Amino acid sequence: MKTNLLLFCVLSLATRVAAQQDLSAISRIWHPVPPVIDPGKTAADAPSDAVILFNGKDFSNWEKTNGEKVKWSLADNAMTDVKDAGDIRTKKGFGDCQLHIEWRTPGEVKGEGQGRGNSGIFFMGRYELQVLDSYKNSTYVNGQAGSMYKQHIPLVNACRPPGEWQSYDVIFTAPRFNKDSSLQTPARITVLQNGVLIQNNVTLWGNTVNEGIPQYIKHADKLPLVLQDHGDPVSYRNIWIREL
Ligand code: MG
Repeated sequence: MKTNLLLFCVLSLATRVAAQQDLSAISRIWHPVPPVIDPGKTAADAPSDAVILFNGKDFSNWEKTNGEKVKWSLADNAMTDVKDAGDIRTKKGFGDCQLHIEWRTPGEVKGEGQGRGNSGIFFMGRYELQVLDSYKNSTYVNGQAGSMYKQHIPLVNACRPPGEWQSYDVIFTAPRFNKDSSLQTPARITVLQNGVLIQNNVTLWGNTVNEGIPQYIKHADKLPLVLQDHGDPVSYRNIWIREL
């Protein structure tokens, strides 16, 4: 009788352990296996699956927004806005993406407010992430560096002094539109400036406008990234993008 009881106990314990093991196995997922990529040595390095938009050598992936040749200057692995040379855009279009871009406002400080080191990065040519020398330079806060221009104020001012290189790492989700051209889901954006979170998955109200109310107007799924010529010699380098 004693032997039977012992056997019963051992068996029920074994069943319970087996059942627990099965339960934990049920929640293990094995597919799909994420692709293996080479992340590079630092966060600034382009991962192996990124598209290099600017390698410091040429404008092969860029054109003026009217399709003409880029007239910005090129030196020291960087491109620099030349006054009146016009906005430039990538030849290729992008929708959902991760972008790394480095920028520098002039070391020689001129002007104030919006007139100091102004440029901008327009996702899909429409949604501006502001570039500005916002180091000890007061302006309206939804127009300072790291703002989604005239929409979202950055969480903090993470600006380095003028003349120093800075970075934006961005996760952008494009808006979706219905067949009848109405908005299905708005665009969203997360931005890190110099590694610091400054926009946390904010919802964009529509296209960037300087006057009036932003609105969504149906557009293609993928559109070029645009860099703004605001007349100041702002430089860019090491630009890469990952389509999501
Ligand atoms: Mg701007």
